[in-house]
Amino acid sequence: MRAIRRFTVRTVLPAELAALGELVQNLRWSWHPETMDLFAEVDPGLWEQVRHDPVALLGAVTPARLNELAGDRRFLRRVADAADDLREYMTAPRWYQTLPDAARAIAYFSPEYGIAAALPQYSGGLGILAGDHLKAASDLGVPILAVGLLYRHGYFTQSLSPEGWQLEHYPALDAGGLPLTLLKDDEGAPVKIRLSLPENRVLHAQIWVAQVGRVPLLLLDSDVADNDAAARDVTDRLYGGGTDHRLNQELLLGVGGVRAIRAYCKLTGHPEPEVFHTNEGHAGFLGLERIRELTEARMSFDEALEAVRAGTVFTTHTPVPAGIDRFPRDMIERHFGGANSWPTVPVERILALGAEDDPGRFNMAVMGMRLAQRVNGVSHLHGEVSREMFKNLWPGFDVDEVPIGSITNGVHAPTWVGRELMELAGREVPSLLERARGWDAIQKIPDGDIWKIRGTLRRRLVNGARARLRRSWRERGASDAELGWIDDALDPEVLTIGFARRVPSYKRLTLMLRDPRRLARLLLDPDKPVQIVIAGKAHPADEGGKKLIQQIVKFADQEKVRHRIVFLPDYDMALGRLMVQGCDVWLNNPLRPLEASGTSGMKSALNGGLNLSIRDGWWDEWYDGTNGWSIPTADGVGDPDRRDALEAAALYDLIENEVSDRFYDRGVDGLPRRWMEMVKHTLTSLGPKVLAGRMLRDYVVTLYNPAAASARALSADAYAPARAFAAWRVRVTRAWPGVRVEHVEATGVSDTPEVGAAIELHATVALGDLEPGDVRVEAVYGKVGPHDELVHPAYERLTPGSVDDDGRAHYTGTVPLDRTGAFGYTVRVVPYHPLAATSAELGLIAVPEEPAGMTNGTLR
Ligand SMILES: *Cc1c(COP(=O)(O)O)cnc(C)c1O
Repeated sequence: MRAIRRFTVRTVLPAELAALGELVQNLRWSWHPETMDLFAEVDPGLWEQVRHDPVALLGAVTPARLNELAGDRRFLRRVADAADDLREYMTAPRWYQTLPDAARAIAYFSPEYGIAAALPQYSGGLGILAGDHLKAASDLGVPILAVGLLYRHGYFTQSLSPEGWQLEHYPALDAGGLPLTLLKDDEGAPVKIRLSLPENRVLHAQIWVAQVGRVPLLLLDSDVADNDAAARDVTDRLYGGGTDHRLNQELLLGVGGVRAIRAYCKLTGHPEPEVFHTNEGHAGFLGLERIRELTEARMSFDEALEAVRAGTVFTTHTPVPAGIDRFPRDMIERHFGGANSWPTVPVERILALGAEDDPGRFNMAVMGMRLAQRVNGVSHLHGEVSREMFKNLWPGFDVDEVPIGSITNGVHAPTWVGRELMELAGREVPSLLERARGWDAIQKIPDGDIWKIRGTLRRRLVNGARARLRRSWRERGASDAELGWIDDALDPEVLTIGFARRVPSYKRLTLMLRDPRRLARLLLDPDKPVQIVIAGKAHPADEGGKKLIQQIVKFADQEKVRHRIVFLPDYDMALGRLMVQGCDVWLNNPLRPLEASGTSGMKSALNGGLNLSIRDGWWDEWYDGTNGWSIPTADGVGDPDRRDALEAAALYDLIENEVSDRFYDRGVDGLPRRWMEMVKHTLTSLGPKVLAGRMLRDYVVTLYNPAAASARALSADAYAPARAFAAWRVRVTRAWPGVRVEHVEATGVSDTPEVGAAIELHATVALGDLEPGDVRVEAVYGKVGPHDELVHPAYERLTPGSVDDDGRAHYTGTVPLDRTGAFGYTVRVVPYHPLAATSAELGLIAVPEEPAGMTNGTLR
């Protein structure tokens, strides 16, 4: 029989232990081992059974044990100390509090969050990154207020069928059994937000608050009695269901998220956010809701758009056009038009924001870029790929000038780094994590100390893997009698390679199987054996991905190799942590450049693991030749099969000839000196870069605070500057067809120009109805390619001179001939306004109709 309703009855703690409840409710425990120690002490056996989930622990511990603890003075003192420590953590000024004019609060929107295995609200990298973002923000005192959805079934948990096929399970979560608090008003009633849906339906949602250290995370939950059955199911699963379902989720996240923030700030006195950060397109509707707010306060759509853009940051995570979030255009029209439209926000304007090449589609990424003055990708290479991918939104501009920057992802060390290693680092190099410099001090730590911890972490992985393997085989129908071999599966002394990630095809889970015999030889090498630990979930609708998992499982099932290669089901944060800590080598072989950043390799590096990876995402940027290995990519090879063959062969060669040689090359003391050299170099060269703290500082300094400054500038004097800026944009856009570069003349170009000389440029520009102050006229110069195109040119502002009666303006300037070889220049006109973030902001540009000038010949 099935229950019609379920909920979790919470334990009532004895008054003496009230502080323990506070500690459980703040997720800081998930990265604070001392607090975890305290939980373990409540009931060590139970703590293991509930897999280190403190809410479950308090739910299951016996009242007798609680009473015993309530009388244990030593335990009570430890609880009080931990609670004091948390209070201090919550209020002490941090890095952010030293910044002048910083944003009062920043809203952060993400469809998923990976905070702790006990709060399974993530599917992969995007969510884990969001979780690390919040934790690092908390550590640095960055006042983020985060918003997401509470998925009743989270993402699925994975097991295997006897045939090695992925099975998905969706256990129901009770909010009451999670470290969450329902947001209630002063009368004690749950706060609810409402969204109107077409056909007179209403979507209601309540708001759960997860406290992530200093950062409140608001999670919207549509499973409330006011909703019809379909509306209740809006937050049933992460990335489940069809397009309609996804649209409703994204509306709830974006529009509902802003409403939840307003309600939360009003109720708690939390400062209103000045900056809104959209983590990937899914949350993009938040910009529309903010436009609605402002237009209802009597601004025009254009004025509101400027005000909103100024304070919005959009991060794109997808380097593949097929991965972009799109909706059928008529679905958006149905939602925001007709009887359900917002009176002050015309549906045509909304449709225009998401318009893309395909007239039938509404593109969330494109809308994200049009609604945000600041846009970034998540690694240097991904920034480049994104500029190329979205350059059509800024026609006429060189791809280098497309206003999409990049901030490379990072990972939260206290979440991912093995405790022993954190403690060693803390002892030897205090406050290492707070510093970008000084990591060289790691070189002074004796090799043996680090090697010993590496061994401990590897052994922990081997033990954990055996337990998981046994559980998996039992689920696949094996009896204990058949599983004796698992006691010897994997070897704590053998070189261990890890591969764990979601299983979209570009990540090429099965590349290592390309030559199964060669792989088996590597695994079974009598002198230099290798073992491989693999994990990953395929999206439930991805049959291809499930086939790849099955191929791996079938290979690993073979009796002759099963002690050296294992597939561990249900990749989650707990398994991820075990693996990134215990593996010696972290393998990543995506199809370049489809991995936007990747973060698991960073986690491995911080644990003293060595990366063995295709140069993609973050690894393209920070691989330096000796901090790991780069698998040569054959990305120029068109035939995918041949490309796989080439890259797989290179991978086997590297493992055979370099990786295992180094690992097994031992000194008389048993230490692999050359290996440790690389480990230490990895820690010192990558350590400070891959930290989420570095990432957060980059976001604050280059995006959040400039966005806050822009937002303030536009909202001053009751938004007068926003109105003026919007009027300027309309005027300039209208007048732009009249702007032309009519004539460019160069003096000082000799027949044999030499480096170090300079050219004088004189340009005549027709401004039409614009004033000289509305534009910038610039020389664009530098190296030219085979088709006279300027390659990574430099820009130099030309000086305005006289203006003729007919509106022709004269400009002059000097172009230095600063490099040898093919050199060229041209002149361009772009709109200029102090409140624009970049020259490309309006997407308007004028260049000479004929290419203006090439110095004749080649510079010497
Ligand atoms: C770190 C992590 C990811 C993301 O790793 P990638 O390298 O970006 O694939 C995904 N899932 C889990 C559980 C993780 O810990």
